[in-house]
Amino acid sequence: MMTPSEKIAWLISGDLTIAVKANDSDKNIFCSPVLQLIHHVYSTYPQDAHRILRARILTTESESMALRRIVRVAAKRIAFVAEPSRSVADAAIEAPIRQLEANPIMSSLDLQLFSDDLSKILLVKSLAENVPTEANRYSSNRKIAAALFRSDGKCFAASTNTNQTNRLKHAEWNLLLHATEKLGGKIPSDWTIATSLSPCSMCGEIITKCCIDGSEQKVIYLDEDVGTLGKNLSLSQMRKIDLTM
Ligand SMILES: [Zn+2]
Repeated sequence: MMTPSEKIAWLISGDLTIAVKANDSDKNIFCSPVLQLIHHVYSTYPQDAHRILRARILTTESESMALRRIVRVAAKRIAFVAEPSRSVADAAIEAPIRQLEANPIMSSLDLQLFSDDLSKILLVKSLAENVPTEANRYSSNRKIAAALFRSDGKCFAASTNTNQTNRLKHAEWNLLLHATEKLGGKIPSDWTIATSLSPCSMCGEIITKCCIDGSEQKVIYLDEDVGTLGKNLSLSQMRKIDLTM
């Protein structure tokens, strides 16, 4: 049985029907059934995930730019519909958010102070340089890192890109999943996000959803992403930090 607040996402690929339901996707983007469905496909069918995700994803979630961007990165097509068939609704599984694995970097970072933008950027630069790269026909873990700093300069969370097995898992994505779980809520408005590469259009939407200030959240970055999905128009307070100055 579905409760009224529950939303559902599903896809049909050949004989396979995969359906996921979740609550509270308005409050926490990581609870989104569309996102949970994509993650479920990657973790349950690692060899076939890219093929399965070519099927159209259907969902009863509200239409949003964030979901469109997520699907654009990981899958192909999405359709927003009123309700699923009875058999799809009955087959829907609940996918717990804990299984998303944020890949946080735990170290002595919390003892250090990163009081200015330059020191924050130097930290993500060095974290990015330590990302292992493995050859893969479809994708690779690019050397990208992101970190979140409190207003007192302490590093609250840091993550790297792990999108080799799950295309969604960009550094900012991992960072915000970890940080919002650790905080139990949204990112305060006087905190700073630093990334080694400017956030892509999907991560721009994720940042907007996860921060109290939304699109006004302060984001600093080192390099400009010139890829096709690289440009984001969601964040108004982004600043490039130039290390040559
Ligand atoms: Zn991204």
